[in-house]
Amino acid sequence: MVYTNFSFNEMVKIANSCDESYDGLFYYAVKTTGIFCRPSCKSRNPNKENITFFQTAEEAKGAGFRPCKRCQPDMIHFDPIMDIINDTKLYIQRHYTENLTMKQIAQKIGISPYYLGRIFKKHTSRTPRSYLEKIRVSKAVHLLKNTDLSTMDICFEVGFQSYSSFYHAFQKQLEYSPQQYRKIFNYDL
Ligand SMILES: [Zn+2]
Repeated sequence: MVYTNFSFNEMVKIANSCDESYDGLFYYAVKTTGIFCRPSCKSRNPNKENITFFQTAEEAKGAGFRPCKRCQPDMIHFDPIMDIINDTKLYIQRHYTENLTMKQIAQKIGISPYYLGRIFKKHTSRTPRSYLEKIRVSKAVHLLKNTDLSTMDICFEVGFQSYSSFYHAFQKQLEYSPQQYRKIFNYDL
């Protein structure tokens, strides 16, 4: 059972993109090989039909899967810093639609905004703010592809407070405007 805000298809996409910003939030297992991995693992991309997800390494092991030798998903590091970072990611994932401030996030995590910003940047090479934007833009992409909502509706749906901040974050990450992105995607169909 996975408690993140991601749908099955989104988690498949994350696993296939080997994106390490989701490590610690869930694990994926491949039924045909009996092996489970972290989202960032660079092993061969599994077929969607063979993939299953777990919240923790223990659950994956409990279901009979073996840890991958490459990404070592069962290696537990007793690292309070990584706990803070994972808690922050999870908090942002669960609350990205809200008007979040860094102060508010830091307060929930229980440390100062300055310290949170510093350790988050050191371990993920991005600030909590840019992580939040990344989550929002990836949700917006999902909505652009799968719904008829206007780009304006999508902007507010994913938590941006103004169209210009949505536009800039989107353009910065994908090098297209939301409208261009939707058009290009529809051509591909
Ligand atoms: Zn692996």
